[in-house]
Amino acid sequence: MDRLEKRLLDDVARASADFALLEPNDRVLVAVSGGKDSHALLYLLREIQKRAPFPFSLLAVNVDQGHPGYPKQLLPDYFAREGYDYRIVEEDTYSIVKEKVPAGKTFCSLCSRLRRGILYTLASEVSATKIALGHHRDDVIETLMLNLFYSGQLKAMPPRLRSDDGRNVVIRPLAYVAERDLEEFAKQKGFPIIPCDLCGSQEQLQRKQVKALLNELNDKNPHVRANVFAALANVRPTHLYDTELRRSLGLLEAVEAADGNATPDRAQGSAQVIPLSKLARR
Ligand code: SF4
Repeated sequence: MDRLEKRLLDDVARASADFALLEPNDRVLVAVSGGKDSHALLYLLREIQKRAPFPFSLLAVNVDQGHPGYPKQLLPDYFAREGYDYRIVEEDTYSIVKEKVPAGKTFCSLCSRLRRGILYTLASEVSATKIALGHHRDDVIETLMLNLFYSGQLKAMPPRLRSDDGRNVVIRPLAYVAERDLEEFAKQKGFPIIPCDLCGSQEQLQRKQVKALLNELNDKNPHVRANVFAALANVRPTHLYDTELRRSLGLLEAVEAADGNATPDRAQGSAQVIPLSKLARR
């Protein structure tokens, strides 16, 4: 095994250990779009499976969304040749997206929501315990920046999340993996890549801009991307302004006690705290 593959396996194993992504007897549905990321995800999970101290199974799933010129046989042939357990689901979401999305707008949001719905339904049918997606570290960083700049939210892509409908657990085993490593790995392994522009959609403009900004900053300081990612694991709630979060962590108690809203013994313990709300009223 070469150094790159070892690094990628270490990254996946670390993310799995940190967030309990893989657990004994899991049945993991691996979403494979045919891009470099999902190919690497499937490959690496199988290598992890060979070495894991507990059993879990994998099911590679490709959703054929009816895009023009989609090479239907490419992935089934590859999965069969490599000995993967797999399913191909054919659902023409392309027609729906074309009909619903106004001309000139990007398809991606609706397209990926429809695909996700298909995966959720299949996961229940095949009793999958987890759905693995191929988002990597740079997707996480870019999503964080997009949410900061355009949604006013401090959130990224979680490594493990129960889906909104409560039916499924979504995991992102590549969350610690850098995109450039995946590009290199896909070249090395010669994965049969399906281009993601068959749908004719443009990449979302805001995501493009954020990527360009991060690249520009990273060219000046090569630690920028790593630092943004490190910040996600180095959160200082005392320096943030989310009162709900602060309350849930007990960080508002001192202020409430000083304001006279707390029980007497708590207030006693907070005698030195300056009641900011009272200062504001002066
Ligand atoms: S690039 Fe095309 S296939 Fe991929 S999510 Fe966007 S619309 Fe869907």
